[in-house]
Amino acid sequence: MAKAMETICIMCPMGCPITVTETDGVFSVKGNSCKRGEVYGIGEFTAPVRTVTALVRTKNGGVASVKTSSPVPKDMIFDILDGLKKITAPKNSRIGDVLVKNVLGTGSDIVVTGGN
Ligand code: SF4
Repeated sequence: MAKAMETICIMCPMGCPITVTETDGVFSVKGNSCKRGEVYGIGEFTAPVRTVTALVRTKNGGVASVKTSSPVPKDMIFDILDGLKKITAPKNSRIGDVLVKNVLGTGSDIVVTGGN
């Protein structure tokens, strides 16, 4: 039995609407204008991932922006965000500092991207 999913490719500003179909383990992608869309569509169908961005408190009462160093499984985003509510960035955090290594075993680090 075939399963299908419609989505928008976000790999470039073109935003091609694509349809991914899987039949007995064989994938077909339609609507993509290039190979990247095919790879993206199959990834979205089988194991969607996202880069997480958030704000965390800093020791001086401000906030610092952070992000995952690489995309993480989509179904772990809320667990990661819950964990980020519990951490405080050091007073002198700088862009590129790693606040959490290998967050929740994803292989991705939480990295400072800005703040005060
Ligand atoms: S399929 Fe190719 S052209 Fe279309 S949005 Fe994705 S990367 Fe861009």
